[in-house]
Amino acid sequence: MDVTTARERLEEMLAELDRSIGVLQGDPVAVREYSAADAGSDLTDADRAQAMLTVATAQRRAVIEALKRLEEGVYGRCVDCGKPVPEGRLEARPEAARCVQCQSKQERRH
Ligand SMILES: [Zn+2]
Repeated sequence: MDVTTARERLEEMLAELDRSIGVLQGDPVAVREYSAADAGSDLTDADRAQAMLTVATAQRRAVIEALKRLEEGVYGRCVDCGKPVPEGRLEARPEAARCVQCQSKQERRH
């Protein structure tokens, strides 16, 4: 994937995530239900909205970091081992920072 395509896709993702985060944060029903929900109760819509917000925020950060790597000319290289991230992986996840091996190591640590 060339740098121009990667940048376009990342910028689209960022715009999309900003919209989602705005909706999730700005939904008054979700916010009201969230503050009224008892601890330990089953997942409410608001809990789900909160979980989605957490995921969207983390992904937004990954996209911004990928755009930064584009600026620095190191996009497409694994941030841990420095080897090229496979093309197919970048096609599926343009914000991917690590090759598959390093990513699975990273996930095992958590
Ligand atoms: Zn790696």
